[in-house]
Amino acid sequence: MDNTQPPTNEYNKYLNIFFNPELQQKCSECSGSNTNYIKKAINDNEFVLECKDKNCYWGRKISLNQYVNIDNQVAKLKKEKKSLLYKINNSVRLDNESEFKKIQKRYIDVSNDINTLEKKYTDNKKELMENIDMIYEFSSKLYKLFYDRKKIYEEINHSLVNSKLKGELIKIYKNEKDNITDKRIVDISKNIKLPSTEIKKWFEWFKLSVNYVKDNNTLKEYEQNLQDIKSEFQYNIQNFLNKSYEINTLKKGEIKISNIEMGDKNGDKDGDKDSDKDGDKEKDDDKKIKKRKKIKVNKIKTSGKKL
Ligand SMILES: [Zn+2]
Repeated sequence: MDNTQPPTNEYNKYLNIFFNPELQQKCSECSGSNTNYIKKAINDNEFVLECKDKNCYWGRKISLNQYVNIDNQVAKLKKEKKSLLYKINNSVRLDNESEFKKIQKRYIDVSNDINTLEKKYTDNKKELMENIDMIYEFSSKLYKLFYDRKKIYEEINHSLVNSKLKGELIKIYKNEKDNITDKRIVDISKNIKLPSTEIKKWFEWFKLSVNYVKDNNTLKEYEQNLQDIKSEFQYNIQNFLNKSYEINTLKKGEIKISNIEMGDKNGDKDGDKDSDKDGDKEKDDDKKIKKRKKIKVNKIKTSGKKL
């Protein structure tokens, strides 16, 4: 169970061949030398590709990635666990040892699956929670800044400064910022005839205002980022890779491909609603499935062996 494994080129290569809308697709290995086409077949979560040219022969059976919704899957497994517990009790009561061992094994497997899925859920949730905590801390810091700024504004004697003087103070602060020394403030005080203590308060208020605007913008970025993390979290929960694809090489004649149209009631059976086939390319695959239904595709026939 690993949600990070990227599909290999080989997997993509066979997917592309299988879902190619071209009905009669030539084998790239031997296209020049014969008129054979690649045979295609599908069966639930598996498909088969085969080049039957006698000089070229190759065959692959590919099982698709299977995705589940973690929430639904855990709920399903918990239900099964409960029913297994009931069966275990029954087998103990009836003293049926072989039945007991069989159910016990399944019970352990189901419990492990639940733990793995719940851990995946928690790991995903952890990142989300860490970001929520971080934003909370940052917001608290921002609130303190807002409060300090308000406090100093209230301490300023506004009757001493008209808008023209305020404009001059802003100009000086913009030019000199944090480099303003006490000596410089005394000079300014003489120049504009405003007490040093008042000038200091104004400069402090300017500084806190600039910081507040800056931090407020940062907070907005964090919040935007959190939205992305939330979406990703939702996506990971709904599209958890429960089973990775497998590619098997077929021996000649191992699987018989007979000519059955796709989209009949057997071929169209979707099975478990929770298991999305290839959920990472859902929309893409929807289109492909539509195309796939239009074209004639063979259905896998095995010699009595279930695939
Ligand atoms: Zn070939």
